[in-house]
Amino acid sequence: MKEIIKRGEIEKLSHSELVNLNMNLSKKLQQSIAHENLYLDVASVLCLALDNEGKIVLLNPKGCEILETTKEEAIGKNWFEMFVSKEQSTHAKELFLAIVTGKHDMAEYYENQVITANANQRIIAWHNALLKDNDGTIIGTFSSGEDITKMQESQFEIERMAHYDILTNLPNRLLLGGILEHSLMQAKRNHTKLVILYVDINKLKDINEIYGHDIGDAVIAQVASMLSAIIRLEDTLSRIGGDEFVIILEEIQEAIECERTLQQIIQLFEQSIQTRIGALILSVSVGIAVYPDDGQNGDTLLKNADIALRQAKEDKNNYCFFAHEMSVQLHERVLMEQELRRAIDNQEFIVYYQPQIDLFTGEILGAEALVRWRHPTLGIIRPDTFIPLAESNRLIIPIGETVLTMACAAVKKWKDANIFKGRVSVNVSGKQFQLPDVVETLTHIIEQSSLDFESIELEITESVLMGDPQVLSEKFSRFKALGIEVAIDDFGTGYSSLSYLKRFPIDKLKIDQSFVRELPNNDSDSAIIKAIIAMANALGFKTIAEGIEEEDQASFLKELGCMQGQGYLYARPLDEQAFEAFLIANSTLHKI
Ligand code: C2E
Ligand code: CA
Ligand code: CA
Repeated sequence: MKEIIKRGEIEKLSHSELVNLNMNLSKKLQQSIAHENLYLDVASVLCLALDNEGKIVLLNPKGCEILETTKEEAIGKNWFEMFVSKEQSTHAKELFLAIVTGKHDMAEYYENQVITANANQRIIAWHNALLKDNDGTIIGTFSSGEDITKMQESQFEIERMAHYDILTNLPNRLLLGGILEHSLMQAKRNHTKLVILYVDINKLKDINEIYGHDIGDAVIAQVASMLSAIIRLEDTLSRIGGDEFVIILEEIQEAIECERTLQQIIQLFEQSIQTRIGALILSVSVGIAVYPDDGQNGDTLLKNADIALRQAKEDKNNYCFFAHEMSVQLHERVLMEQELRRAIDNQEFIVYYQPQIDLFTGEILGAEALVRWRHPTLGIIRPDTFIPLAESNRLIIPIGETVLTMACAAVKKWKDANIFKGRVSVNVSGKQFQLPDVVETLTHIIEQSSLDFESIELEITESVLMGDPQVLSEKFSRFKALGIEVAIDDFGTGYSSLSYLKRFPIDKLKIDQSFVRELPNNDSDSAIIKAIIAMANALGFKTIAEGIEEEDQASFLKELGCMQGQGYLYARPLDEQAFEAFLIANSTLHKI
């Protein structure tokens, strides 16, 4: 250790040398702090001496600069009250007092935050020593400190850059690995699935080559923000390469649940992407892997999703599941949905009519309108094949309106020809009935056909009754006021209690065919039908049994007091022409 240091030399000293110097100095400081000020004036680090109470006895010019104060202002003030945050002040002071009274060891080195006189926060790396008098009694502390705020900020920045993609600010591959590991642990614990979507923008390389990288970058940034907009809060979106994104979908019960997100991604790319040089049309490929089915750890899942992605590209499909069967299943669904949309545009839906008969007189009271899809290559398709899908994507709304329009036109024609005088029953899906303007829409369609409202009955499934009773009641009342009857379809399969039914102004209960099928031998079915009929009579509802195929089913239902019936025994659903012929052939029955 140099005993005498010249002014110029002190600036060249390293931090640790300075600390040693400080410790050395501390002895001398006891005699003459003023003398040493000479060295401290030029030191490039903050030098601070505190007395036993924490009062500042020395602060060098560099210290004043860092703490944004002056010597005059600082000397004599308590360090902990002036430069330590309010929250930490009490604790820091207690610790300091423990140190100077010898109850606690002093840390030679630590980093902490100080608050400057202008209330700015700085991070200081401290080296500390105790000040002792000739007897060895502690009389204060001496610290040299370096302002490392900038360094720490850039360390954070480096850290951020190591984990986030600069262009999109999304987690990068490195961070994705960590997130995935954590998500997998959670999925394992909760016994849920996790879906990895490996998303690749097709032909981005061409865009970079043709239009330049700034346009390519703009496209990536826009795709990133579009993708972030469609994922749920619990999902993760990351960019792991030039044109590759990975989405983790968490808390999935069935892999098929990812379909919604998948469709949204595909739809995003159906629109063009705006750039400085105009709109660009892009396409996307997605590879899908599912935990636990397609892998137990992150690496395997990512690898398998990538394999699925390559497969999707090869097949020129938008997406591909690592597990092949599911891919086929979902692909069929998507194809079917496209087909359904096309069918609506091409008016491929037609209506069949199934007679409804008075069980006691044999009179034709009406008919149920049942939709059929006349597919250009597959022929006539029954509704069970496409109604569930149409319900889930709401295409049932336009389809249902088409059926009503067509049924109204047909009935108008039969009425004008005087061959039909009953009602036609049209099925209204729950999705349709939930629409706030369902009454306006349906009545408008009937009015357009110049058919009287009394010729129409609406069939609504029992499950619809689970909605808000007040809203339902209002809709039912408006239909009733116009003369449109309402029947509850598939009755007995839902959960409506008798007292619940009472509040709705409905006209008819349709006893579900599952209760009719095993009549007259199934005792519990008979008991249920008996109860439904008794209740319907008490509440003033009409009853109709559907699915009557045998004569003895019909006579048993009559015995139980059921008024109307519908089923293959009388007629299968018939196309418009066949139903017309049926009406004419049975004209004596319906007493024209
Ligand atoms: P649903 O409303 O319960 O219609 C009765 C179904 O039972 C019809 O099947 C009919 O053909 C069938 N059926 C009639 N009599 C018998 C019989 O004696 N034995 C047997 N085994 N079956 C009989 P369909 O036409 O295939 O319709 C199936 C379902 O599709 C309908 O069930 C209804 O829920 C739905 N659906 C049909 N058309 C429409 C529509 O225009 N809109 C809506 N929302 N749904 C419709
Ligand atoms: Ca029905
Ligand atoms: Ca039914």
